[in-house]
Amino acid sequence: MKELSIEISKIRGRRKGHTNPREYVSCWSEEDVLNAKAVNSFVVVLRTRGCYWAHQSGCSMCGYINDACESVTDEEILFQFTEVMKRYNGQEIVKIYTSGSFFDDREVSAALRKRILERLKANAVKRLILESRPEFITSKKLLSAKNDFPDIEVAVGLESANDFVLEHSINKGFTFKDYVRAVKAVKRSNLRLRTYILIKPPFLTEQEAITDAVRSARKVNEYTDIISFNPVNVQKYTLVERLWRNREYRTPWLWSVVEVLKQSAKAVNARLICAPTAGGMKRGAHNCGKCDERFLKAIKHFSLNQNMNIFNDLDCECKEEWLDLLELQGFTQSSVDVNRIIV
Ligand code: SF4
Ligand SMILES: [Zn+2]
Repeated sequence: MKELSIEISKIRGRRKGHTNPREYVSCWSEEDVLNAKAVNSFVVVLRTRGCYWAHQSGCSMCGYINDACESVTDEEILFQFTEVMKRYNGQEIVKIYTSGSFFDDREVSAALRKRILERLKANAVKRLILESRPEFITSKKLLSAKNDFPDIEVAVGLESANDFVLEHSINKGFTFKDYVRAVKAVKRSNLRLRTYILIKPPFLTEQEAITDAVRSARKVNEYTDIISFNPVNVQKYTLVERLWRNREYRTPWLWSVVEVLKQSAKAVNARLICAPTAGGMKRGAHNCGKCDERFLKAIKHFSLNQNMNIFNDLDCECKEEWLDLLELQGFTQSSVDVNRIIV
C-alpha cells in the first residue's frame, strides 16, 4: 500500500541518526526457558546499519532504526561485540539482536557472522537466539551458522498471519507465504523457531486485535516452537506514535493480552511467551494503573511455566470499561476487517 509506506517514510525521515559506530545499543539479562526450565539469558543489541526495510519505509510500529548507524563497519561491530561480551556472565541463552536481520549480509557480513558465532561457541552458551526477516533466511546460511554454533533458535517477526493486516496496518513488506518458505528452511535445518506476533497493530479495534493475534497463533502453530506475543508499544518516529499523539491509537489493554494468551493456550501447543515492552506505562500495554503490576506479574509467570490458572484471580473494576470497548468500539471506529482473509 503505497500511501502508507510514503507516510511512514516521511515520519521516519525526521529521526536523528546515531553517530558512534563503536557503541553497542544495549544489553541486559532476563529470564527465559531452556528445556522447560527457567534460566537466565543475556540479551545483546548490536548497532548495525539497521533494518533494510526500515530504510525503505518500515513497519508502522517500529522505531529500531533510530539506533542504527549507517556507516558502521564489520570491525566496529566486532568491537561492539567484544565490549558487550565483557558483561557476559555465564547465562545459558544468548540473544544477539541487531534491530534488523542477523542474516542480512548488508547488516552482518558472512565473515562477521562466523566470527561472532565461533566466539559464542567458545563460551558456555547453550542456545543462541537470532532474529531475521524471512527474505534473508536460506538453507545455505542456516547450515553454515549451525556449523559454527549448533543450537540456534531463529526468531522471525511475522506479526500477523493475515496478509491484509500485514499490508494495510503494519506495512510489513512480506506476506504469510514468505514466512512459510523461510520457516520451512529453518525446520529442514533442524533449528528451532520463534515467531513474534503483534498484539494490536494500528487501525484494528481492540476486539479485532485479539482475534487477529489468536488466529495468527493458530496458523503458525504447525511451524513454530515458540510464539512470542508482542503487545505494541509506542516507539519514536513511527506512524503509531503519530496516531497515539493524535489520540487515534491506544496501546492494547493488559486484559486483551491476557485474553490472547488464554485463547491461544487452548488452541495451540507451541510454547507461549509475552514480555510487554513498557508494560504498565502509557506508551506500553496497560490497564487502569491500579491493576497493571498484578497483570504483568501474571503474564511473566505464565510465560515461564505455561500455567493458565495464574490468570484466574485477575480482576479489577476496569474490566467493565474494557468489556464495553470490545463491544462498542467497532461501531464508533472505522476498522480493518480481519475477516477479509480467513485464517
Ligand atoms: S519490525 Fe523488524 S522488519 Fe519491521 S522495520 Fe522494524 S526491524 Fe525492520
Ligand atoms: Zn484495573
